[in-house]
Amino acid sequence: MDSSPGLSDAKIAVIVAVANDKRGVISPCGRCRQMLMDYYPGIEVIVLDEAGELRLVEMKELLPFAYVNSKWTNYDEREGLKNKEN
Ligand SMILES: [Zn+2]
Repeated sequence: MDSSPGLSDAKIAVIVAVANDKRGVISPCGRCRQMLMDYYPGIEVIVLDEAGELRLVEMKELLPFAYVNSKWTNYDEREGLKNKEN
């Protein structure tokens, strides 16, 4: 019997934060940015730019000069992402 892939099999490539009360797309807060950098450093994030247009940004742009502990993240300070295929 085939089992369909679940969320645990999926790789997250892009994420977007959407606020309630019809506020639409918002930027992730600082805490969320750090969590994304820790667990998904290769992810891309949809944000609104200064002109109100949707824009796809990398984590290094969303969280410049980020705190990185390469012992427990997927990020290597010297080499960048450990898993570049992400
Ligand atoms: Zn947040």
